[in-house]
Amino acid sequence: ALAQKLAIHEITYTGEKKDRPIDKSSFALVKDPDKCVMCRRCETMCNEVQTCGILSAVSRGFDSFVGPAFNLDMVDTSCTFCGQCVAVCPTGALSAVNTTHKVWTDLQNPKKHVVVQVAPAVRVAIGEMFGMEPGTISTGQLATAFRRMGFDGVFDTDWAADLTIIEEASELVHRIEHGGKLPILTSCCPAWVRFFEYQFPDMLDIPSTCKSPQMMMGSVIKSYYAEKMGIDPKDIVVVSVMPCIAKKAEIQREELFMDGLHEVDWVVTTRELGYMLREAGIDFSTLPDGEFDNLLGESTGASVIFGATGGVIEAAVRTAYDWLTGEDLQDVDFKQLRGLEGVRSAKVKIKDIELNIGIAHGLGNARKLLESIRRGECEFQAIEIMACPGGCIGGGGQPFHHGDMEI
Ligand code: SF4
Repeated sequence: ALAQKLAIHEITYTGEKKDRPIDKSSFALVKDPDKCVMCRRCETMCNEVQTCGILSAVSRGFDSFVGPAFNLDMVDTSCTFCGQCVAVCPTGALSAVNTTHKVWTDLQNPKKHVVVQVAPAVRVAIGEMFGMEPGTISTGQLATAFRRMGFDGVFDTDWAADLTIIEEASELVHRIEHGGKLPILTSCCPAWVRFFEYQFPDMLDIPSTCKSPQMMMGSVIKSYYAEKMGIDPKDIVVVSVMPCIAKKAEIQREELFMDGLHEVDWVVTTRELGYMLREAGIDFSTLPDGEFDNLLGESTGASVIFGATGGVIEAAVRTAYDWLTGEDLQDVDFKQLRGLEGVRSAKVKIKDIELNIGIAHGLGNARKLLESIRRGECEFQAIEIMACPGGCIGGGGQPFHHGDMEI
């Protein structure tokens, strides 16, 4: 009766499927405009938080949805594929390219040696998908889960994060001692790298030359590990489990191929791993602890803090301290580098050298720091930038937080 009173029966439902094409042009994001309800949360993340300006309302007559200007394919834009739009989209109009079926296919193939590596930020988030308290550290359970899924080798990306630190710290020390270009910028976040390439092409000599930990691990597996195990690298499949959507695009960069082979074959996000575990009928919360395979020794505590903003630069400073002083560091905690403010700075005294360090998380904050460097106002020697708010812990592939976060 109320509907009749309000004349609702006279309103024609026009929300039917419109058959707008699904954009699968990129290796990272899928855009399905038919599912867009114009809430424009993705647009807020893209324009106000990340300042990339890719997503905005596209209108054609009475038809409106969110997408790139001129309805370009995502691959033809300067999108960084950080995936923060996916993290806040309530309908699946934006989602990550899902290759989990390819991982299952490779795991079933007896001719393939399939190994997995897992990033630091995954172990504190995956438990959420199985009713565990957010932040529960489940490193050992992950190792057990991977073995039950059928992986032939189970590796911890923490080890490769240590490798990244050695490389980045040696580049920092080299630039300090030999008068190289400063500040040095971390380069382990692929969304940040793409942002930098598109938005600051005049400053490409500043970032460190290091690959990200997942790519370093992939190349070690397809070279050192392959030789040690006597396996043709062509028969090895490397799967990365990451908090990150941008890493799906990173593995396709041609300069990161090794002898024509992908260093990493598939990237699975934390969320997708949760779905795979459910598909396999594995109740993650009840798994016993297992062990990772040991590729070249243990990883350090410095690699674990990579997952949070400030962690990469703190790890690099710990190593740089050792090298610049020739002494063992007694207190490894550089608490002045920690925190959640979007842009922060800290001074670290290493004997007679005072290192001025900048940290930014979220690309909008990164832009502020980069513009100050461009104007010549910046006195930092080293800067860490992570594209996602909070660092990888807030990655676009982590369990959905429905946009409820501190920025
Ligand atoms: Fe990926 Fe981490 Fe960069 Fe986010 S901050 S894009 S999760 S590497």
